[in-house]
Amino acid sequence: MKRLGLACLLLLASVCGLPRASASGSIWMPIHVLIDAGHGGVDGGASYGSLLEKEVNLQIARILYRQLTEKGYRVILNRTGDYALSDENKWLNSPSRHLRDLAQRKHLAAELPVEMMISIHANWSKNASKHGPLVLYQRNNQSFMLADLIQHALNQLYHTSAEPRAAGSYYLLKHSLCPTIIVEVGFLSNREDRERMTDPNGQEKIAQAIATAVHEYLLLVGEMQEMSE
Ligand SMILES: [Zn+2]
Repeated sequence: MKRLGLACLLLLASVCGLPRASASGSIWMPIHVLIDAGHGGVDGGASYGSLLEKEVNLQIARILYRQLTEKGYRVILNRTGDYALSDENKWLNSPSRHLRDLAQRKHLAAELPVEMMISIHANWSKNASKHGPLVLYQRNNQSFMLADLIQHALNQLYHTSAEPRAAGSYYLLKHSLCPTIIVEVGFLSNREDRERMTDPNGQEKIAQAIATAVHEYLLLVGEMQEMSE
């Protein structure tokens, strides 16, 4: 995606966030957050021994869903169990299951009035000492703003200092219309990260950091929209 001006992005956000009339004529309320639980079904993602990324992603995504809902936000979780989203994609005629899976994730965000999409993943490296969270963003201001808030909230938890990274080549980041980010919550290949990501208390804290940053982001965007009115 090309670098867009702030006014243009705000317009994009308001288009994404506006209530829309469905085929039956009823108005859909905008969804604040679409949570994408990375991988699923035959696609396990990264792994460490018998531990699969798709399971960690789903556990954290479910907690994040609960926490944001408790804060009063309208949230959608695109996968609530262990299945591949490509199975639900009957519209893209592609032999690539992976592409059908990614297209289905993007399709959901495009079809619903969504203000942001947060895709939950876990990282992996050959270097077992590599650790910490990393947030990837689209090359636009809103995606960066959201990524920056989440990265720094997670840095506080992990005692790390990484900066979010622009990553335009990821399918989801390239094709999604609404501000979209990928949160690599930590490295499955690192012992400390792995313990944090699989411990229920650790998962709760990871989700809490993300939820707090989402809350800050929505407040900021709300203020910017008020200023432009
Ligand atoms: Zn992944």
